[in-house]
Amino acid sequence: MNRPIPQCPVRLGEPCSLCVPGAHGPEDCGLVWLVMNDPDLREQLSELRREALAAG
Ligand code: SF4
Repeated sequence: MNRPIPQCPVRLGEPCSLCVPGAHGPEDCGLVWLVMNDPDLREQLSELRREALAAG
């Protein structure tokens, strides 16, 4: 199958490397799930995103 490689939502700027055992991509990645379901981590991640955007 020839699918485009998705970006990793938690490692900014990097494609998903399937670093989490059992994950087939961001959609079933346990780490992404954890981060998105933890308000503090999610806030930290959006903060990092804003900084990365601001830095260009
Ligand atoms: S497996 Fe999860 S944490 Fe690892 S690169 Fe892919 S989306 Fe990111």
